Amino acid sequence: MADKNWQAGGKNLIPARAAVCLVALVAPLGAAWGLPDSIAPANYVGSADPNTVWEMLIGGIVVCSLLAAIALWILSALRKVKRSQLRRNAFVSNALNNLSQGVVMTDPQKRIVFCNDRYLEIYGLLRSDISGSMTGPELLEMRHKRGVLDVSVEDFYKYAGNPEGLVTELPGGRSILVKYFALPNGGSVATHEDCSEQRKLSRQLASTKQFLESVLDNVPVCVAAKSIDDGRYIFANRAFERFSRFSRDNIVGKRADEIFQPETAASIDAADRTALDSPGGQFRNQFIVERGSEKRVLASFRVVARDEKNQPEFLIVLFEDITERKSLSQELENTKKFLELVVDNIPVSLIVESVSDGRYLLANRSAETILNRRREDATGLTAADIFDPREAKLIIARDEAAIRKRGLLTEEHPISTKDGLRLFLTRRMTVLDEAGEPQYLIKTPEDVTDRRQTESRMVHMAYHDGLTDLPNRASFLQALSQMIEACEGTGEEFAVLCVDLDGLKEVNDVFGHATGDKLLIEVARRMQTTARGGVVARLSGDEFGLIIDGKQPAAGMALAEQLAQALANEFQIDGKSVRTGVATGISVFPRNGADAASLLANAGAALFRAKAKSRGSISIFEPEMDQQIRDRRVLHQDLSLAIKNGELSLYYQPQAMARQTAASSEVIGFEALARWQHPIRGFVPPSDFIPLAEESGLIVEMGEWILREACREAASWPMPLQIAVNLSPAQFMHGDLVGLVHSILLETGLSPGRLELEITEGVLIEDFDRGLALLRRLKALGVRISMDDFGSGYSSLSYLQAFPFDKIKIDRAFVINLGRNPQSASIVRAVIGLGHGLEMSIVAEGVETQEQLGFLADEGCDAVQGYFLGKPLPIAQYAVLVGRTDTMEPARKTG
Ligand code: C2E
Ligand code: CA
Ligand code: CA
Repeated sequence: MADKNWQAGGKNLIPARAAVCLVALVAPLGAAWGLPDSIAPANYVGSADPNTVWEMLIGGIVVCSLLAAIALWILSALRKVKRSQLRRNAFVSNALNNLSQGVVMTDPQKRIVFCNDRYLEIYGLLRSDISGSMTGPELLEMRHKRGVLDVSVEDFYKYAGNPEGLVTELPGGRSILVKYFALPNGGSVATHEDCSEQRKLSRQLASTKQFLESVLDNVPVCVAAKSIDDGRYIFANRAFERFSRFSRDNIVGKRADEIFQPETAASIDAADRTALDSPGGQFRNQFIVERGSEKRVLASFRVVARDEKNQPEFLIVLFEDITERKSLSQELENTKKFLELVVDNIPVSLIVESVSDGRYLLANRSAETILNRRREDATGLTAADIFDPREAKLIIARDEAAIRKRGLLTEEHPISTKDGLRLFLTRRMTVLDEAGEPQYLIKTPEDVTDRRQTESRMVHMAYHDGLTDLPNRASFLQALSQMIEACEGTGEEFAVLCVDLDGLKEVNDVFGHATGDKLLIEVARRMQTTARGGVVARLSGDEFGLIIDGKQPAAGMALAEQLAQALANEFQIDGKSVRTGVATGISVFPRNGADAASLLANAGAALFRAKAKSRGSISIFEPEMDQQIRDRRVLHQDLSLAIKNGELSLYYQPQAMARQTAASSEVIGFEALARWQHPIRGFVPPSDFIPLAEESGLIVEMGEWILREACREAASWPMPLQIAVNLSPAQFMHGDLVGLVHSILLETGLSPGRLELEITEGVLIEDFDRGLALLRRLKALGVRISMDDFGSGYSSLSYLQAFPFDKIKIDRAFVINLGRNPQSASIVRAVIGLGHGLEMSIVAEGVETQEQLGFLADEGCDAVQGYFLGKPLPIAQYAVLVGRTDTMEPARKTG
């Protein structure tokens, strides 16, 4: 079969060359070349003599033999060559037939000169299908007809010659890659290779690659790969594109320094190097890159990808823009820090314990005391590690109880700390996990040692007077109740003493409150000594209560006298001699009261009487005193209805210039004085109902009515005289006095300059700062302020300095004594001088005689007021003085 493949016979140059050599050798002998061996000797025989013929014959035989030998040699050589030629042909043909590719060769006439078995196999052809003279195009035409060529013959030649060849598809899904080579002699060789597998693989590869690329493109993380040799990007996903704001085409093939700013590129390179140098071929870091004007924080992860020989091939970089997350986590971190700070600084200790193993997870600064160590050293420990075994056992038992309860458990218990044994109030709160099982135990042990001490101190304070440490009124009433309980039905008696300290106010005013306080402490001490273990209590500022058993009232009287004696002795306080006295009221159980309150009230009523008598007096309660007190209560009730019932009215007393005679003393204004016409009792003097109104607070409402009434009245006068209205200290303490005066002035239309408010030093004694502030504001309204009853109090002088009063009213007591007592004259004279020095005008009250008026006029007193000039009367009586001409005679001429 091999020889058949070579249909052209092939070209063998070796035998030809051998023949040429041989001819050249025999040519001189005249032998005709190309003739058969037998002919040539005959040509030589015909032309020689006999000797010569012989010689020639022998020579001819030799030559012939030689020629024959040569011919034989040539023949054998030719055979040898042919054999090897055939062997080679067979080998080549065999080899070509065994190729995995189909091979077809044509000669310059396009005739098929060779076609291997693989070709026939690929296209399902038989060798007999290919005739000896068949051309390439004819073969293709045939294949086309048989359906094993899916392109036209022209296209075949057009595309198969391309370097990449032509892929044709065969039925059954196989693909054949055809490559056509034109030979220099005009012939051609075409190879046909079944590439179905590769195509499948490459298709698979392509789709896998596409899949991976689409995955990578859709992950939100930036992915890039770069070549390790030159650091150029070989891949970048969409996230990378988005982040870098460069298209993929602009990234791939570039180095970091061609894309990013120098600083960023440098940090990228540094990270790349670190990843490459790291033993595991991985590197994780965070760094900041500049993108345009903004800075972004990236979290990156680098992995070195290696080839089969474990040589680094690519660097895969994954990175994520965590700027927002970072700031969020920063915020979270800050919040956490903040909360930690809060937890650490709350004044209550906080301990969080894990329920599963009882270990402390967290403790704040305040908890350091109870834990006896720094908070960070406590985490991980259990109660058993921290507390002594006995305490730990108790603590653990309480923890377990709280865990069992799954709620809040509060307990108080002592714990020994470095500051000694302290009392802790611990709240235990169980925190449940999602499954509803206890997970954490939050404990807030609060050191309540001091609080409990304070509480017991407060209890003491609630029943004791802070200054003298004597039992107070509440505790005195308790003691009284106990005493009553003990004596009830036994026929035993006891006395309640109510003792009022005289002159405390003076001591306060003259020496200051510190001295007054020391005096009280000393008085309390002397009382306790005198009472010899009996109950002594401080009931109010300068009022004390005592209980004394024994035969009454003798025992009570005796104690009262002893007290008076004990307190009559001078007190030495801070080197100063201080004097005081006492008045005592006594009530006796059971005759003066069956309960603590009435016994004390009755002792108080007796004291009231004692004070009214004289200094140092003692008074035992009598039932009519009780009646008086009850009367007061009824009167008080009546008073509360007085305004509503129109029982209150105002009388007006003139104030005049101080001249030698009443007639020449021109009236400059009136003082309004309240009057109460009780429906049953008749006329009630202001000295009775004003204190009552003050005590009950009724004075505020009443004062408002008086002020409005007086201003309304004065505003109606034709003459713009002054109107003086008395204000009670209570009016300064309650309500909006300034607002009231202001609105009444507006309401009545009275010019502020005509209104004069008379106040007593009580306003400044009760609350100096408040009193002063209110006076200033009142004065700012344009009204005038006068100091009433000057000289009757204790420290009027200092108040004169504190506030620029417009007027000073010298107390009636000094005026009354003018004729009788030489000191009064000098006092009045001094006050007038003082007032003028302070640019305050002076009014003398209670002027009843011509002498008094004369004296005051001589001394330069500015104004006078008193019965001598006119009594307090209804204003109708003074109609002429206020300018109402159509009324009756002026009262001052008659009174
Ligand atoms: P006061 O403010 O010092 O009023 C002067 C008192 O002296 C009046 O007594 C008046 O009648 C009386 N008086 C006037 N001239 C003479 C006189 O020549 N000889 C004598 N022996 N007494 C004279 P009244 O009206 O009984 O008032 C007593 C006190 O009642 C007043 O003293 C005042 O402190 C208070 N009071 C009277 N009316 C009011 C008022 O409307 N509001 C307030 N808060 N207190 C008032
Ligand atoms: Ca007055
Ligand atoms: Ca007065």
